[in-house]
Amino acid sequence: MSFYDVLKSVDMASVASALAAATEADVLRALASERPTRADFLALLSPAAARQLEPMARRAHELTVRHFGRAINLFTPLYLANHCVNRCVYCGFNTHHDINRRQLTLEEVEAEARCIAATGLRHILLLTGEAPRTSSVEYMADCARVLAKYFASLSVEVYPLDEAGYARLLEAGIDGMTMFQEVYDEAAYLPLHPGGPKRDYRFRLEAPDRACAAGFRQVGVGALLGLHDWRSEAFCTGLHADYLQSAYPSVEVNVSVPRIRPQTGGFQPKVEVGDRDLVQYIAALRIFMPRAGITLSSRERPGLRDNLLRLGVTRMSAGVSTSVGGRATGQSDPGQFEISDDRSVAEMAAMFQSQGYQPVYKDWQ
Ligand code: SF4
Repeated sequence: MSFYDVLKSVDMASVASALAAATEADVLRALASERPTRADFLALLSPAAARQLEPMARRAHELTVRHFGRAINLFTPLYLANHCVNRCVYCGFNTHHDINRRQLTLEEVEAEARCIAATGLRHILLLTGEAPRTSSVEYMADCARVLAKYFASLSVEVYPLDEAGYARLLEAGIDGMTMFQEVYDEAAYLPLHPGGPKRDYRFRLEAPDRACAAGFRQVGVGALLGLHDWRSEAFCTGLHADYLQSAYPSVEVNVSVPRIRPQTGGFQPKVEVGDRDLVQYIAALRIFMPRAGITLSSRERPGLRDNLLRLGVTRMSAGVSTSVGGRATGQSDPGQFEISDDRSVAEMAAMFQSQGYQPVYKDWQ
């Protein structure tokens, strides 16, 4: 049984009705619960809970401090390549976009690694588009061997692999992965992915299962907010994280909460996810899953990131470039999307310290 089977057993029409029918009494009961159920999580994501953001934020903060202290992990993404065979309508790397396609040589990977390591970071996230011929598993493994000289831990955010592929990455020293499902609603997923292997919804959905089976230490999941109704997508994301935490108790589970950003191609999302919606989502997630990591990327603007720090976030990016080779060469090709917070690692660390939080540069000891 995988998460695909779990999700198939959920009646999404009932989820929509439960979200619409939840009352403030349901929300207050969920807030008081020591072990919130799926029904409590739904109540916390409902429109009724939008009127209870203050107590939700207080509860989320209290749970975060209890389980994680005041430590925030810092990481930065390293784009190895922007080749991609997919046609995701919301992405700057879409195969039909006329952008400068590049893949870093191992020498260039080392140059980028030196720039990042000089900031003090010891954990990085490697990214590629989906282009198995150029950004092959062997290429990623070769990059990992170069990067191992500079970093204590490596994660990937790449196309879904089979279990043997994840085992090969693990052998090369990569032991964390994030797989954004983008959209959990299968009917909404297909038109947003009109061509390429990413149309295989199920193969993508089950990728974290395969990484866990291969022995990965950390997995992350997330929906790209703005592509479909955010409340039901948030619910499915929470279910996915909860399923992984129960099915693989030794694996550290993280949830990312990205909102869609402007990108080459100019895709305009039909669903708006406001700042208050994001606050509600993060607080609900923290209350439902007190032990899950929550990642907030540089898609969000500085002031908002500073405020969300206290709510439940445990990991943030800093010193981000979404261009391939952007750090060592200073080139700024259009990246995968526009970022909103371009603060350096030192600036982010100073902000954490000013709020009484400790920046952590290594993913684990
Ligand atoms: S979201 Fe990923 S798979 Fe889709 S076009 Fe962009 S890089 Fe390719």
